[in-house]
Amino acid sequence: MKILFATSEAVPFAKTGGLGDVSGALPRVLAQMGHEVTLILPKYRQVNEKRFKLIKKKVGLQVPIAQKIEEAEVYSVELAPRFNALLVRQDTYYQRDQLYGTINGDFEDNAERFIFFSRSVLEAALALELQPDIIHCNDWQTGLIPVYLKTLYRYVPSLGQAASIFTIHNLAYQGLFWHYDMPMTNLGWELFTPQALEFYGKINFLKGGTVFADAVTTVSRRYMEEIQTEEFGCGLDGIFRDRREDLYGILNGVDYGEWSPEVDPFIKQRYGPSDLKGKRECKADLQREFRLATKEDVPLIGSISRLAEQKGIDLIGADMEKMMELGLQFVLLGTGEEKYHLQFQKFSEKYPQQVGVKIGFDNALAHKIEAGADMFLMPSRYEPCGLNQIYSLKYGTVPIVRATGGLDDTIQDFTPTNLEGNGFKFGDYSPSCLLETIKRALQVYRNKITWEKLLLRGMSADFSWEQSARAYLKVYQETLAKKKNRNGKE
Ligand code: ADP
Repeated sequence: MKILFATSEAVPFAKTGGLGDVSGALPRVLAQMGHEVTLILPKYRQVNEKRFKLIKKKVGLQVPIAQKIEEAEVYSVELAPRFNALLVRQDTYYQRDQLYGTINGDFEDNAERFIFFSRSVLEAALALELQPDIIHCNDWQTGLIPVYLKTLYRYVPSLGQAASIFTIHNLAYQGLFWHYDMPMTNLGWELFTPQALEFYGKINFLKGGTVFADAVTTVSRRYMEEIQTEEFGCGLDGIFRDRREDLYGILNGVDYGEWSPEVDPFIKQRYGPSDLKGKRECKADLQREFRLATKEDVPLIGSISRLAEQKGIDLIGADMEKMMELGLQFVLLGTGEEKYHLQFQKFSEKYPQQVGVKIGFDNALAHKIEAGADMFLMPSRYEPCGLNQIYSLKYGTVPIVRATGGLDDTIQDFTPTNLEGNGFKFGDYSPSCLLETIKRALQVYRNKITWEKLLLRGMSADFSWEQSARAYLKVYQETLAKKKNRNGKE
């Protein structure tokens, strides 16, 4: 099968969150399984040109945006056999310090930047004669691609037959823009209706992807169910219910080439289930890094997160004093809303021996926290899949999570009656529930034998991508078959 995978970020080129991890790993595994995969994303400033052999394609792209034509260059990199990346270069749009916006908010021209990117994907497919069977789009930034495929490109040979898959990694970010941006899409106003792109007077790119794609997927089974409810549907639950015949929940996998303490180049000492000495070294190293008291038996809780309401940061902040009274240490790596930056910096000043905070995006430190912490805290309000809790399992760092979305699918609560659990889980979104769960975890932590069994169970779990990739392939095949069937009847 020929697969064109369109995304606004992918490891190892540019990443702000889980989408980057997924887009770096899933296409690679699909290629390993024998499919021909092309990854396509914008060429941002973050792309390390020294690291990759970028080859400029002879053909350039001419992309219509309203009445004007914007030009782009395309660079290609061979990442592995059958796995090629294309980078769309348009410096006015993508040569910036960030991918989507600054601390003060989203870039004002995000509609234009991603209308341009979405059309570039299709123009590149034509110019380079990719002839994809599947065009796999991800999140709002590529939401217009399925719309274009069913409208402006419907009768274009070599594209019109392709099945489009739209994956939602986070429904809270929908790509909402005022209606004055509609002409830039070159789509007709007849699509500006509640059945298509319109959402309370605005254009909604994610809605476009959801309505027009041949199949829609999201990144865990539980989240797939949740988004069909009013509570989690962010105003689109009706649309998801309409599409439930073509809606799938496929859990993300983990790239263990990158996230395993046995091969991790960033950590102080490597370790595995048969020898946990290295983990103790990593803990001491992490305590030193954050200038905390270097005590082996003080429980150390880590967290790596976008500092956004979604992630339950307010829950952690609400009872910090009480958490400190439990005698634990807490380290946080994150960036996001400024109110949280200030709040947690204050905690680290107030409790210098117990709280370490680093505001920023730091991949090496993220690995060190996974390895050095005893527990990983992720009390999200909602969580489509969540990757850090799955990484934590592999590092023997016991997750403490709230039962929502992918967190609920991947973590089973450890209790005196369920010794098979792999972490600690709570339901109510409340500081007291979180605190009680931390207390439960600390109680088990004090029993070294039980604790070791618990963390070893996590380390032995397998969340590698192969299984998820097979699930995606099944969706691709089913969707192609359905599409052929429908086309045959038309
Ligand atoms: P989301 O995509 O909602 O941010 P996920 O748990 O799915 O959350 O994925 C987050 C990814 O981004 C993980 O690989 C995590 O390690 C990484 N990450 C998040 N914040 C930071 C940060 N401040 N520094 C380094 N890595 C981070």
